[in-house]
Amino acid sequence: MKANRFSETNFYLLSAFFILFFLNGYAQSSSSIVILHTNDTHSHLENYSDPVVGNVGGMVRRNSFIQETRAQFPNTIVVDAGDFSQGTPYFNLFKGFPEIELMNAIGYDVVTLGNHEFDNGSKALAKRLKRADFKVVCANYHFKNKKLAKLVKPYTIMNVGGKKIGFFGLLCDMRRVVMPNNYRETTFLDPIAAAQKMVDLLQNRAHCDLIICLSHLGINAEIESDVTDRDIAEKVPGIDFIIGGHNHLLLDEPVVVNKTKIVQVKKNGIYVGKIVINNF
Ligand SMILES: [Zn+2]
Repeated sequence: MKANRFSETNFYLLSAFFILFFLNGYAQSSSSIVILHTNDTHSHLENYSDPVVGNVGGMVRRNSFIQETRAQFPNTIVVDAGDFSQGTPYFNLFKGFPEIELMNAIGYDVVTLGNHEFDNGSKALAKRLKRADFKVVCANYHFKNKKLAKLVKPYTIMNVGGKKIGFFGLLCDMRRVVMPNNYRETTFLDPIAAAQKMVDLLQNRAHCDLIICLSHLGINAEIESDVTDRDIAEKVPGIDFIIGGHNHLLLDEPVVVNKTKIVQVKKNGIYVGKIVINNF
């Protein structure tokens, strides 16, 4: 059997600390903050055979990797940038509940919503998210469904390793990519204005040490009017990372726009992205 393609991308914010990391692995491990990220996992609960790269993905394999990372780096945060729903018969048969249960079991901390989360409408999504042990963030939508509005917050702040880390979420304009019945209980708000509001709040009022945007906008536009991760990074300074999705792109290295690092790791849980922060 071919070696699995489950992999990770690694990078470090400061090269000086890159050297320290290797000289003193244990000390750095216990103080480093690690962010593991997925996007567009699309109900791929089981591993599967990709015609080009062989055996890939699977929640069991993802869990092993995440737990191994946690054992090495106690300050590990696990996030998802949306579209964890839809894509295999599991979603059609079990309506997205196993995805939530398994993400709970793996220990996801914060996720944002993708357009496919709305495939069975707002009411069904609220029922699923009620079961989630993780935080759900989205700052550029108004949800008319009261239960959904209660479950989805614009931002959340985590205190990890003595640092305050602010997360907020952004979601693309669903009017083009979701059936009207399924987005009608939502109102799309300008992502740039929403991001600016979040950065103002997280930076100036909450005094976060790190600001992370979980984005399901996409780094590249599909049509001209799309607001992308690049637009957010260009127009809203102060975001350290945009952990993105939607385009199903594998970025081997972060795309840097205006000091903001944009990352994205393909689709279907083939990869887990790994950001190691040793000092900030
Ligand atoms: Zn999407």
